[in-house]
Amino acid sequence: MKAAVYHEHNKDPRKVVKIEEIEIPKIKHNQVLIKVEAASYNYNDLWGIWGEPIKIPLPHISGSDVSGTVVDVGENVLNIKKGDRIVAHPNLTCRICKDCTSGKEYDCRQRQVWGFQTGPLWGGFAQYTYLPEVNVIKISDNLSFQDAAAISMVGMTAWHMLVTRANIQPGQTVLIMGGGSGMGIAGIQIAKLFNCDVIATAGNQEKMDKCLELGADHVVNHRESDWYKKVRNLTTNNNQGGGVDIIFEHIGKSVFAQEVSLLNMGGTLVSTGATTGYDSKLDLRYLFFRGLNLIGATQGTKAGLEEVIKWTSKGKIKAVIDTVYPFENMVNGHIKMMESQLFGKLITTPQKL
Ligand SMILES: [Zn+2]
Repeated sequence: MKAAVYHEHNKDPRKVVKIEEIEIPKIKHNQVLIKVEAASYNYNDLWGIWGEPIKIPLPHISGSDVSGTVVDVGENVLNIKKGDRIVAHPNLTCRICKDCTSGKEYDCRQRQVWGFQTGPLWGGFAQYTYLPEVNVIKISDNLSFQDAAAISMVGMTAWHMLVTRANIQPGQTVLIMGGGSGMGIAGIQIAKLFNCDVIATAGNQEKMDKCLELGADHVVNHRESDWYKKVRNLTTNNNQGGGVDIIFEHIGKSVFAQEVSLLNMGGTLVSTGATTGYDSKLDLRYLFFRGLNLIGATQGTKAGLEEVIKWTSKGKIKAVIDTVYPFENMVNGHIKMMESQLFGKLITTPQKL
């Protein structure tokens, strides 16, 4: 089979990521063999190629978001059979510790992100790959492989932030920062599923327009210095003084202090990243006088991913795809992720060279 392999780290993916011929993997008793139809890119693919911020096993196959068809199952696999269409749940956890058995698999001390921390040669950018049975989810016939691969990681993470962690309620006012990012695209749509009033932010007019197309009620440009005043003005009719109930945050230092000032009494900021820097300031008076919840989130649960897949197959959440790359040119996806502003996910199709 063909796979996108690298044997050493480099800042330029073109120098190390090559399509190679390798053996189709052999599965263990609890695993399934997957013919990969679509695989989407994530930033952790770049971290793997760079070897920063953590070292990963070499030689390496990246790719954590895949969909495809099961072509073989191990002898102890119970609920998945040959021919099933599936999407990967990329969190590998022990499933027996206190966190796993209380539904908090994202806190498992043994958690690994498949395709990033796993290996050697165990990831999704390949014509065939394998996963434990518990790490695949069946998808319905009306959900395309590309849509399933595009929505899985960002959808699961956004669901976890808003539903599991921030306990989103119908009718709340929700501020989706970076609404034009993969995470934000999912966040806007999940908040609208709950009939929330959604204010999205984006960094340019094109992305602002697309946020509105996805269902955001309002949009502001977070690159403008008075962006937070605009958010406050948009909410003054909803609440005394103006403010939002939930902030979906992954931008970090450049906006964090203003975000906290926008939260209503008892409001919640849920963070899953800090692309502009992590050493931000916090006026503690907001925290205690307003009884705020400042919480973090990372990845999500299989149950959350199943919800996202269900709503995507119903057409209530739309997967947004920026570009699809033939597999032989798949390294161009890594380059695009490094160099360009995207709207939606990048996909490669390992069966289509
Ligand atoms: Zn565990």
